[in-house]
Amino acid sequence: MNRGARAPALIIFRAPNSTDIEVNDGMGRNIHVARSIVALDRALRRIRRAGKVALVPTMGALHKGHFALVRQARRRAARVIVSIFVNPAQFAPTEDFGSYPRTFAHDLAELGKLDVDLVWAPDADVMYPQGFATRIVPEGPALAGLEDRFRPHFFGGVATVVAKLFTQCRPDIAMFGEKDFQQLKVVTRMARDLDLPVRVIGIPTVREPDGLALSSRNAYLSAAERAAAPTLYRVLKGCAAKIAAGAPIARTLDEGRTELADAGFALDYLEARHVETLAAVATGKDGPIRLLVAARIGKTRLIDNIGV
Ligand code: AMP
Repeated sequence: MNRGARAPALIIFRAPNSTDIEVNDGMGRNIHVARSIVALDRALRRIRRAGKVALVPTMGALHKGHFALVRQARRRAARVIVSIFVNPAQFAPTEDFGSYPRTFAHDLAELGKLDVDLVWAPDADVMYPQGFATRIVPEGPALAGLEDRFRPHFFGGVATVVAKLFTQCRPDIAMFGEKDFQQLKVVTRMARDLDLPVRVIGIPTVREPDGLALSSRNAYLSAAERAAAPTLYRVLKGCAAKIAAGAPIARTLDEGRTELADAGFALDYLEARHVETLAAVATGKDGPIRLLVAARIGKTRLIDNIGV
């Protein structure tokens, strides 16, 4: 991600407070941005006529990981909608909602290049109007004892906003990154449980050349933290290779935890889980196995996962 690169000038030729915005990216491409339910519905009527619709939900600060989701959406559907919404409901008061990177102009310029048909970018009071009082409480994979142990509010916020995005945009398919593996499982389960007519598709994690998974939060890392950050993936890969070769899981994970601590990480978890149920696994026979990790380096919390 080259956040320093200057985005081309964006020319907005309808007032931002109108229900529709048509944005010209300065290179002749128009991007349609809907910011109200009325504008979204109007755009959807046009879009749905073309055939299959894909949705890529994001919180903006877009990078190559997001773009991989958009490209996959493009390949599988006639029309692609990208939502950009930093969802307050999935941040605890102590977390980084206020400082979460917001790069809207840059995001629109990049989405223009990827030929996205519609950007759905509601404000918080459009998503959660006054009086809003309904929350989805996911169970199953949302209670696996991974992210939920450290961010107990998180999956309720995610499930609620994703259910709303699905009913607002009515996509045939929706792309989610394996980078947020537990989230992928929670959203897949929720769509099934609520009979939402959408197929959730998981897309492999996009990484920097040194292995660090791309994340909007990587922008928080100091130079020294950035240099240490790839250890997370290195440890995952090392543990996966040992477990695949038959090493005991518990001992292998303990060694991995020590390695991470030695590299300066404060570990939340490093766990081996069943790839579908996220249940704990004691031996390779309980698999197929996914290794999942979350750790803080300085003030930045990073997550990653890989298959064994
Ligand atoms: P976010 O904007 O962080 O909420 O992410 C939006 C979507 O992009 C989620 O489905 C993420 O899992 C996915 N995503 C984030 N980072 C990556 C990555 N490095 N590779 C693939 N997908 C990603």
